[in-house]
Amino acid sequence: MSRSTLAEQAAATVCRSCAHRGLKPVLDLGVPALADTLVSADRLNHPEKKYPLQVGFCPSCSLVQVLQTIPPDEIFHDDYPYFSSFSETLLEHSRANALSLIEKRKLNKGSLVIELASNDGYLLKNFLEHGIPVLGIDPAPGPAAAAQKIGVPTIRDFFGSALAGKLAAEGRKADVVIANNVMAHVADLNGFISGIATILKDDGALVTESPYVKELVDHCEFDTIYHEHLCYYSITALDNLFRRHGLYLNDVQPLTIHGGSLRSTAEKKPNPSPRLKQMLEQERKLGLDRIDYYVNFAHRVQQLQTDLRKMLSDLKAQGKRIAAYGASAKGSTLLSYIDVGPDVIEFVVDRNIHKQGKFMPGLHHPILPPDAIAQHKPDYLLLLVWNFIDEILRQQKAFRDAGGKFIVPIPSPHIV
Ligand SMILES: [Zn+2]
Repeated sequence: MSRSTLAEQAAATVCRSCAHRGLKPVLDLGVPALADTLVSADRLNHPEKKYPLQVGFCPSCSLVQVLQTIPPDEIFHDDYPYFSSFSETLLEHSRANALSLIEKRKLNKGSLVIELASNDGYLLKNFLEHGIPVLGIDPAPGPAAAAQKIGVPTIRDFFGSALAGKLAAEGRKADVVIANNVMAHVADLNGFISGIATILKDDGALVTESPYVKELVDHCEFDTIYHEHLCYYSITALDNLFRRHGLYLNDVQPLTIHGGSLRSTAEKKPNPSPRLKQMLEQERKLGLDRIDYYVNFAHRVQQLQTDLRKMLSDLKAQGKRIAAYGASAKGSTLLSYIDVGPDVIEFVVDRNIHKQGKFMPGLHHPILPPDAIAQHKPDYLLLLVWNFIDEILRQQKAFRDAGGKFIVPIPSPHIV
């Protein structure tokens, strides 16, 4: 993939949602390695694949999107590391979501809940416990196998119009389709949404959660941008996308998870809630449907980079030892963008045993279990998973009681 300037690349790009040609430039994050592709020890000396990472805005449908598309089989490889069950916050959030859907949609043993990108089955198992039939669909082999093991039937495949047609022909239509944190990752967005319309019963509901682009911009959450994460939704952009496929966004609920997300409910008949109307109106007033809203975002991201690099080098100059917490994709983006290697940030800890022993993409910080904190006694931990800050501060009470501090990089670097 050749490297064009942000303006050139934006002008040449066709919108993933509405096919408008010619996007507006928003942000350039350089040429990082794939954020979710952790490096194993035997691959450390092999060159990594790196791709430009640039973001643009569609003036026609308002969708903020990454301008480059990496082939999906390069992303969902056999050791794709994400297992949802390693986050307590996410498990609690999912359970509450399932219980409220069971009640609201009056689900029972005659219903079917289909989840797209069902991962290791952590959400669907809550429906199973209430005797409600479920079906998971996920292309990643490790998580799909883990789901099968706990009794969650899972098709290991990419979801799109082809698979949807097959399911519908078999009479497997859903009362609820859940698509949490996946709509950002889908390269063929229109095939994905039309597929959902195909497998949804006439009175069924699509329930999705996606990070909210307003939070991303307002709180400078640039590290949630990576190659695997193609789209950043406003309510306006979601509404435009769904309508083209005969689905109507009828409600939207702001959530605090993942730095600020939206839970959207779409159905086959329009019935917009007062909250939805009000939030759409607010977006129009604030200008999320115009490029102006996004123009100073790039400057704020550059300022964050400068400030964080200075903070880290000052601490290092004072002889402080620094490590990081959370070997997440957003951690990869952040470390690559600030370009601070293991000479300053000695290692990254993560609770996920599938990540331990590997290395961060790009700069190759080693990933160790959380015990490494007590063993190596860093003075500071750069919090790469700031979206789980409460959970992690609780878990790391001993580190903090012993005088250890966290550096929180977002929305601007500060120490807690
Ligand atoms: Zn568009």
